[in-house]
Amino acid sequence: MIHYTCDRCKREIDSIDDVRFVVQLEIKPVREESFAPLCDEVDHLSELNEILETAPPCDCGDDNATGHRESFDLCGECYEQFRRNPLGRELSFALGFSNN
Ligand SMILES: [Zn+2]
Repeated sequence: MIHYTCDRCKREIDSIDDVRFVVQLEIKPVREESFAPLCDEVDHLSELNEILETAPPCDCGDDNATGHRESFDLCGECYEQFRRNPLGRELSFALGFSNN
């Protein structure tokens, strides 16, 4: 029998009796291009070539440049909390509401 542990509360998740929630995050840096996209009317091909030649290669293995994936196992209770507040923000505005 395979045992999983909740990555949030460290509780053991029984793979038969409990439901295990797998949260997969894909994190990647996004930066808008600083030059205009290619357009047929624009005659700046040599300029563009210059930009491309001076730009650093993007096939480096740097995690920060390529982004990465994270995967977490959550028990039902922690999943419920994650679903309500995935970024762990302060929920002061929700204090007036009851949970039922
Ligand atoms: Zn948990």
